[in-house]
Amino acid sequence: MHVCLFDIDGTLIHTGGAGLLALRRAMLTVFDDDAGSTELVTTGRTDRAIVEDLFRQHGIEPTEETWHAYSAAYLQHLPVALAECRGRVIEGIPELLSLLSARGDVVLGLLTGNSNEGARHKLAHYELAEHFEFGGFGGEHTNRDDVARAVWSQIQERFCDAVAADRISIIGDTPLDIRCARAIGAQAVAVATGTHSVEELRGHSPDLLVEDFSDPDVLLRFLQLK
Ligand SMILES: [Mg+2]
Repeated sequence: MHVCLFDIDGTLIHTGGAGLLALRRAMLTVFDDDAGSTELVTTGRTDRAIVEDLFRQHGIEPTEETWHAYSAAYLQHLPVALAECRGRVIEGIPELLSLLSARGDVVLGLLTGNSNEGARHKLAHYELAEHFEFGGFGGEHTNRDDVARAVWSQIQERFCDAVAADRISIIGDTPLDIRCARAIGAQAVAVATGTHSVEELRGHSPDLLVEDFSDPDVLLRFLQLK
């Protein structure tokens, strides 16, 4: 059994800025501050980490209460922002997911910095939700490595310890995706469809590095399924 854990933004989809738009609208709704002047580093990071940075920069105390107030507003704004922005599913992804989903020896999950509900909104909008039954999400963790550890525990429970760590592939578009694969001994599959180039990603020594998934066989061969 192979488990393929996919990142969302920059790996499966580009939302055309919908996440950031929903974030700014949520800040405006809850804190009367649209965070317009803030420079945010978001790629590969968890929602929790991004928002805690944002709160600090804007003098908002990062507590459970402020996080939950923000999250509720963000989730209200996100579906509207997704509909407004011109995003897209990344080339080759629908075919790759269909191929993998059809196999009995591969299970697909998510490993994303998005919160669970945020991930569901994004995948529902782009009609990819059906492929993913479970996952690790960034609403509770500031460190992506901890998201990987949480999903690793889920996999052990779900498959009664029958899946070895090296049969888990973590597929993502940033050095932080590669690093979190290392944190649990999984295979790191890097794809240059986000903001990081093939050269940048190569410097972090992923186990497989591809420009994109226009040829799904590259991943199947890597998994020794072809
Ligand atoms: Mg990403």
